[in-house]
Amino acid sequence: MLLEKADHLSDTIFKYQKGKHVMATPSQLVLRSDQEFDAGKREDILDRWNGRTAELGVNVMYNADVKAIKGTGEAIAGSVQKIVSRARDGSTTTTELQRHAPPYAITLTNGETVMAQNVVLAIGTQGNPNLMRCPGGDLPHVTYQLDDPYAVIDQHIIVVGTGDAGIENARGLVEDPAQGNTVTILNRNPRSTNVRESFSTAKEPNAKALIEDDAAGRLTIRYEAETSAVEPGWVTLSTRDGEERIRCDRIIARIGSAPPRAFVEGCGIEFASADRLAFPTLSPQFESTAPGIFVIGALAGYPLIKHCMNQGYDVVEFINGNKDLKPADEPLLEAKF
Ligand SMILES: Cc1cc2nc3c(=O)[nH]c(=O)nc-3n(C[C@H](O)[C@H](O)[C@H](O)COP(=O)(O)OP(=O)(O)OC[C@H]3O[C@@H](n4cnc5c(N)ncnc54)[C@H](O)[C@@H]3O)c2cc1C
Repeated sequence: MLLEKADHLSDTIFKYQKGKHVMATPSQLVLRSDQEFDAGKREDILDRWNGRTAELGVNVMYNADVKAIKGTGEAIAGSVQKIVSRARDGSTTTTELQRHAPPYAITLTNGETVMAQNVVLAIGTQGNPNLMRCPGGDLPHVTYQLDDPYAVIDQHIIVVGTGDAGIENARGLVEDPAQGNTVTILNRNPRSTNVRESFSTAKEPNAKALIEDDAAGRLTIRYEAETSAVEPGWVTLSTRDGEERIRCDRIIARIGSAPPRAFVEGCGIEFASADRLAFPTLSPQFESTAPGIFVIGALAGYPLIKHCMNQGYDVVEFINGNKDLKPADEPLLEAKF
């Protein structure tokens, strides 16, 4: 059974900007999945996935927002998880959670409960975006998503963050000069002749295309710049040369996302460290510290669709008893080493 909190499948891809070219890297990695996936337009990929999911008769429950997963079997001897919560002032409180064996009771926000012997958590991290923390960061024109860049016209827009998401949003907003948008994208890193250094979280072709747009005057990249305050119509930037106030009708902050830690820890799943960006501790088969709960995809620390799809396939094979299955990238690594 597939539980999905939205009223459609694949919410992260659904929320990509209209017309986005979805990349299917690493290109040399074979895809193991009953769903096809290749580089292409967002809309075509969603159509194919929706069609194939229906064809395969996948049992999907929509609007099924999971809020808790608890073992209902016996208490597992010696399996107590310490959960450390950190308050804003830096103080910590530690609670202890006794793990229980499967079957798991999966509670939904609508009050329903679904029982399962095994659970594959593939919830990603997009539901928990990093937020703007500066004064005014909670104003309504500060947003974290851009559905349709072609519907935005005659605006002064600041995109915060030069990862792939920020770059794609910024470039989409200036693709058609007739839209008349003035776009500034903020990069915390200094300008460097090494693209990998100045755009450390973006794919190189994306970063290079952004630099070309900047050189052609289609948009402006501000290096070593951050927002220090937001007010209606204006943003104050903190730059190497001091503060600067510039016009801004809308901010699109693409500053990453983090695992929804409180929810995941509450399922009995331990994280590798106390770092906010840490991922769950997993076995080579993606099993978490809660027996029978597996974690795959972005929540397991893998940022590419192809990896996520392969992991989904592998985990289900493993649960079905295929213990000899080798990871899809093993032949590639074998050839390399
Ligand atoms: C803007 C952007 C562009 C990207 N471009 C590319 C690209 O071109 N190529 C590429 O390979 N990767 C790309 N990525 C990364 C890729 O989208 C993710 O790595 C991938 O989607 C992660 O897959 P996942 O299955 O782990 O999680 P997700 O795709 O995030 O799916 C999680 C699903 O779980 C649901 N969910 C969440 N919480 C709950 C809950 N509590 N109960 C029930 N359901 C829940 C969500 O609604 C969602 O449908 C991009 C990411 C972003 C943000």
